[in-house]
Amino acid sequence: MHARAQMRHVRDIAGMLSRPQTLGAGLLRASLTVVAPVALFTSIAAVFGGPLAITIAAITAGSIGILLAARLQRPLVEAIRELATKAEALGQDSRERPDNELDRMARALDAISARIDTMGRQLRRASYVDSITRLANHERFLLAISGAAQTAEGGAAAVIAFSRLPKLLQSLTPEAANELLRGIAARLIEGARPALVARIGAAEFGLHVPNTTPAEIVKLTHDLMSSLSIPIEWRGHTFALGASCGIALIGKDGGDAQTLLRHARLALESAEMAPSRIAFFTPALDRAVTQRLTLERELRAAIEAGEFRPYFQPKINLANGRIEGCEALARWIRADSTLVSPARFIPVAEETGLIAPLSDAIMSEACWKAAAWARNGRPVKIAVNVSAVQFCDRRFADKVMKCVTAAGLAPSLLELEITESTLMADQEAAVRAIEPLREAGVRFAIDDFGCGHSSLAALAKLPFDVIKIDQQFVRALAHGEPQSGAIVEVILALGKTLGLETVAEGVERIEEAEFMRARGCDWAQGFLFSAAVPAHSFAELLSRQCAADIKDANAA
Ligand code: C2E
Ligand code: MG
Ligand code: MG
Repeated sequence: MHARAQMRHVRDIAGMLSRPQTLGAGLLRASLTVVAPVALFTSIAAVFGGPLAITIAAITAGSIGILLAARLQRPLVEAIRELATKAEALGQDSRERPDNELDRMARALDAISARIDTMGRQLRRASYVDSITRLANHERFLLAISGAAQTAEGGAAAVIAFSRLPKLLQSLTPEAANELLRGIAARLIEGARPALVARIGAAEFGLHVPNTTPAEIVKLTHDLMSSLSIPIEWRGHTFALGASCGIALIGKDGGDAQTLLRHARLALESAEMAPSRIAFFTPALDRAVTQRLTLERELRAAIEAGEFRPYFQPKINLANGRIEGCEALARWIRADSTLVSPARFIPVAEETGLIAPLSDAIMSEACWKAAAWARNGRPVKIAVNVSAVQFCDRRFADKVMKCVTAAGLAPSLLELEITESTLMADQEAAVRAIEPLREAGVRFAIDDFGCGHSSLAALAKLPFDVIKIDQQFVRALAHGEPQSGAIVEVILALGKTLGLETVAEGVERIEEAEFMRARGCDWAQGFLFSAAVPAHSFAELLSRQCAADIKDANAA
């Protein structure tokens, strides 16, 4: 606010003070030196806000108070009016410069006004800077993209994230974490010139590459990513940060800053899986997100409605060719009877945590069914898949035991399948979760063995009963890939050495079953024998096998 406007304010206050005419003149006179400065103080502070404005307001109001006190002999309201009029005139006619208190005050107010302008600019600047790295912050980044989006200059908005950074920052003291962030910021500025670099999240950075063609953006980001792939040397340690970059083209991939940022973040998700660690936004990514959200909503409703059922795939004992076990596999049967495959819903269920209630429901029903078959004189071992979320739950062992007890299933008939990657994520926690259940008689299998990165030493330490050879090795056998036979033989030998049973998954041809049997594999499952079938069909398979056994016995 300028001096003129401020003086208009003083004039208003004068008007306000002239109103309480009914008050005695003495009282008015006595209170005016207090009321006027206080009113002024309040109004200036209210207009500008903030601690600095309050200080300035206090000084201004104080000086008015002194002025007023000095002029108490004159009619006070008139004096204030004169004060305001003169100061206003000062603003209008620069030639009239009476060298008195008003003149000095007007100049003081000018100086105050200029100072407030400067402070405002400084405050605005401070609110656009990240306090740790001194990079532009999230607001500034959005402003820059928004500005570019409103013109036809093109360019790109990119988001860079470092997969290892969040954990690293958590493990450091705040001071060390800040220093590391500053080091990364320096690298980004150096490698991303002439882009604007911003810190837009705890471990997430934004780039605004102005006025550039897509080809130039590709070059800039590739150069930047190769410089970021060099491990960072810091406090005597070397860190590989795992940078990925998602890019949205301004104009093409969105007309406003929020959309561009959302699209760059979507591109970042696919960049994390791309070999180059760089990805551009495509409309397909947006569609995939919408589909995933729809699927998530439908999954929740389906769990509520109990639309998930276990199907049972027979497991054949290769020594005698009999069905002596099965694996429970989740199937989503929609209200219109269509069947959704786990390949579609398991990844979304895992991402959203819905895998826990879903798998709990499958485990419970599988236990009830297996207990019923055992009661009918057809005891078969039942294998149930366990997700990482379930396995990491501290109450995992309790939940399983409750399930087994409620169904009346002998724990020795239950086998829990856990993938290699889930086990290796935290081996100590895995042992803690497995041991009480194993003591109760539950068996454990490593699922999809050969896909993960377990060391032999780690494997030997884990309390397991069964190794399931991943079906990719069985497929490789069928395709005659060199070494595939040798790999299967090594896994089978490993199982034998560690005293574990072995299961071949995905057996589709008689030659594969024969190969496995000849090399001592204990069990096989796959389409050669049967796909997963509903409970009543599996019970029929067991009954037929039983009838055949009786027939054979009678014939003998
Ligand atoms: P998995 O545990 O490795 O299950 C084996 C998968 O291979 C099953 O796929 C099965 O239908 C399929 N399969 C069986 N025999 C053959 C064959 O001869 N050839 C081929 N090509 N495939 C065969 P499905 O049922 O689609 O399950 C996929 C994965 O979903 C499972 O892999 C398992 O990891 C997960 N899953 C299934 N049900 C559950 C569940 O109830 N809970 C949890 N946590 N995961 C489940
Ligand atoms: Mg399995
Ligand atoms: Mg498997």
